[in-house]
Amino acid sequence: MIIAANLKTNLTRIKTTKYINEVESFLKKNNISQEVLVFPATSSLNLHSGSVVVGAQNAYPTINGAFTGEIGYEQLEEFNIKTILIGHSERRHLLGEAQEKLVEKFNFYKNLGFKIIFCVGEPIEVREEGFESMMEYISKQYEGIDTLYENLVIAYEPVWAIGTGLTPTSEDIVAIHQELKKKSQAPLLYGGSVKVTNAAEVLALEGVDGILVGSAALYAEHFCTMCQYA
Ligand code: 13P
Repeated sequence: MIIAANLKTNLTRIKTTKYINEVESFLKKNNISQEVLVFPATSSLNLHSGSVVVGAQNAYPTINGAFTGEIGYEQLEEFNIKTILIGHSERRHLLGEAQEKLVEKFNFYKNLGFKIIFCVGEPIEVREEGFESMMEYISKQYEGIDTLYENLVIAYEPVWAIGTGLTPTSEDIVAIHQELKKKSQAPLLYGGSVKVTNAAEVLALEGVDGILVGSAALYAEHFCTMCQYA
């Protein structure tokens, strides 16, 4: 099981330091050996040190160069970051990242051996068109991605479930994961309104290899509880 926290643009470095320390001591105290990943804001990427793996929420496909506002491999390497999220719904939809750019990022960081958590998921209007349309839409998000890459993890995050408190039914998650497993044998995480009260149920579903948690993971105590469920 992989338990991952996407902190997005939340928590300062001081708070993230406290957060990671708290999670690490909880894991140690409770002998939890699950893979625990935390994706903090860029200003906290230097906190990678212990049992919690710190990853980048995004990076530009470059060693360095003239890409204002971006971070490249050189900066990640300095902090020993070897894990990256690519294609999160907020980057696709709010920041306009196209599949082509995501594939470029994927290939760049794949060639550097990074663990890549590649996110897919449909918006509500596609969902409402039915299962087939939805799977067609998600299939396009796999285009250009090496689904056999040994360091690949897929995160299925329906856009309409992110930060809304809404989740697909357990049956839906199982059915979608079953379809997605046909595309790639990579570990498959579910994300979208996972919280302490539903995490155990989601983690127990067939085809779910872990969770990617946003808002509910902002409290170390809640995230620790979810780590314990895994
Ligand atoms: P929420 O858990 O806040 O719905 O966010 C999920 C997410 O986007 C994780 O990447």
